Amino acid sequence: MSHKSLISGGAGFLGSHLCDALIKQGHYVLCVDNFFTGSKDNVSHLISSSKFELMRHDVTFPLYVEVDQIYNLACPASPIHYQFDPVQTTKTSVHGAINMLGLAKRTGARILQASTSEVYGDPEVHPQTEDYWGRVNPIGIRSCYDEGKRCAETLFFDYFRQHHLEIKVMRIFNTYGPRMHPNDGRVVSNFIVQALQNKPITIYGDGSQTRSFCYVSDLIEGMIKFMESDKTITGPMNIGNPNEFTMLELAELVLRLTSSQSKIIFKTLPEDDPKQRQPNISLAKNKLGWEPKVNLKDGLKETIKYFEGVLKS
Ligand code: NAD
Ligand code: UDP
Ligand code: UDP
Repeated sequence: MSHKSLISGGAGFLGSHLCDALIKQGHYVLCVDNFFTGSKDNVSHLISSSKFELMRHDVTFPLYVEVDQIYNLACPASPIHYQFDPVQTTKTSVHGAINMLGLAKRTGARILQASTSEVYGDPEVHPQTEDYWGRVNPIGIRSCYDEGKRCAETLFFDYFRQHHLEIKVMRIFNTYGPRMHPNDGRVVSNFIVQALQNKPITIYGDGSQTRSFCYVSDLIEGMIKFMESDKTITGPMNIGNPNEFTMLELAELVLRLTSSQSKIIFKTLPEDDPKQRQPNISLAKNKLGWEPKVNLKDGLKETIKYFEGVLKS
């Protein structure tokens, strides 16, 4: 069956890959974005398709359109961007979720929330399972994002219990790949851009903190599988790659793959920076038959190729 899918944040990094995948599967896509961190360039190749529509809109305002699926991805994801206007970040997560849920309620559309591993905060349970409630600072500089996303999860489950919506709450772990913005500020794009320009690689803290990186094609496959899964499967569900690396290991791998002359330098660790992060993905394996296929080295090679092209032009 072909769907009419709304993707909020559809002109961003993950959103634009989701647009590509859904169009390829024959669905109709309404891409809604205010272009805060996303860009028309990410979806310009789709504009000529009769199945694709691009709309400038801020999800903190109501939206009346007719669709049967909603992927709610609108929200800046990089710490430097979500901390630029923290009040707007919370509004985007909370008012944005209310408006998208109101839209789902009126149209009967199924709705997926792009939640995050940040709901676990700086975790004492490792790897993180979905039943872990997290350890989040409610008043720190990351809180606009973390608590906004936690409140959005609350809203999803209240609309589920109170209004019987078909919901899918997906907890996304660090994902990287082509179309990340060169100035996005997240670690993978920073290290690659620095390495390709032979500029110093900036490690925050001593580089012993860990993350587990998922390549974008794996993530998008998991997202669509989750959306298409039986309606009893609401999540929350972790989607990510469980292979865990320290930031020092990541820096060394990027240096090797780019044959860069860059030196590693150490900068202050930002406040509330989580020490470790690794998803337990048993639920996704059991319920969706999904697991990631692309290892870090291969994913980085593709991403490096992309940034070489961007830096040349
Ligand atoms: P991104 O910044 O590239 O994309 C976010 C998109 O949302 C951008 O196109 C931006 O312009 C748009 N947007 C922001 N505020 C908006 C608003 N008020 N109205 C309409 N559009 C708005 O980031 P991304 O990595 O593609 O992340 C997409 C989603 O996935 C986000 O919700 C993010 O929290 C979530 N997520 C991503 C990761 C990751 O590692 N990439 C991890 C966890 C969660
Ligand atoms: N909403 C929207 N599009 C719709 C339906 C609702 O943007 O098609 C918004 C509307 O602004 C509303 C919010 O979603 O405030 C929540 O809707 P709901 O029906 O849950 O609540 P109510 O309308 O009673 O506030
Ligand atoms: N980081 C780093 N150098 C950079 C950017 C980030 O060492 O240039 C670190 C950051 O402090 C964090 C990790 O890399 O420990 C992942 O950061 P990112 O912003 O990509 O994602 P998040 O912290 O939200 O997981």
